[in-house]
Amino acid sequence: MIELKNIYKAYKKVPVLKGVSLKMEKGGVYAVLGPNGSGKTTLMKCILGMVLPDRGEVFVGGESVIKKHSYRENIGYLPQIARFPDNLKVEELFKMISDLRGQKGNSEDLIQRFGLEKYLSYKLSSLSGGTRQKVNLVICFMFDAQYILLDEPTSGLDPVAMIALRKLIEEKKQEGKIIILTTHIMDVVEKMADEIIFLMEGKIYFQGDQEKLDELTGSEGVEASIAQLLLKEEKGKNDSSQKNGFRFKLNKVAL
Ligand code: ADP
Repeated sequence: MIELKNIYKAYKKVPVLKGVSLKMEKGGVYAVLGPNGSGKTTLMKCILGMVLPDRGEVFVGGESVIKKHSYRENIGYLPQIARFPDNLKVEELFKMISDLRGQKGNSEDLIQRFGLEKYLSYKLSSLSGGTRQKVNLVICFMFDAQYILLDEPTSGLDPVAMIALRKLIEEKKQEGKIIILTTHIMDVVEKMADEIIFLMEGKIYFQGDQEKLDELTGSEGVEASIAQLLLKEEKGKNDSSQKNGFRFKLNKVAL
């Protein structure tokens, strides 16, 4: 399980996460949504231990992220921007990652799934954005991690790779892994997510499955429902009594 307990984080005194509490269970796909700057990447980095919260605590598999670091071996992370040396060939990169880890990993199967065989001898600098994303996905999944964190995983992917990724995520879910992803593509959420976590201004505005979201907003589909949430929030800003009422309803449904 992954648990965040009342997390606060500010950068240069500007608050980004303002009291986020969450539980994520095995065998679940969690989609973290929210406008740009709402704190999605920061939340992921808190789970990774790359960002330490100012207050609150994060537990991964029962271990506190602040106190122990052994859980990190069990995390596969796809960052939005992966910084690997551009002059490396794809096959050299996979070898380097395996050597650093001291474990071969299962890159062959993933190379095949994402159709990367013909790119193995290419330098990273010569790859398209989508192909680079496939390389990063191989690295994220190659050590069969228990916890998989994907920041915008579909970015640049063609439809064939999207299907390969969806199948992979489905398999990991069946194996009882925890998968957390951020995305702006609502189709991805509808097809993959068991639970939606909607962040707004550093707080959890909604948490629940798609049915609950539709029920709350009176809309159908994630895109329409999220649009409704944003509209009501905007309207609520100009009308504090409605805002309180709507927030009350949201909290009731989310808990
Ligand atoms: P999201 O992933 O939802 O777009 P982020 O977590 O990346 O949001 O960022 C939330 C806010 O924190 C943004 O305003 C961003 O500019 C700011 N921020 C993120 N990382 C840093 C940092 N290292 N230093 C200062 N500000 C940061």
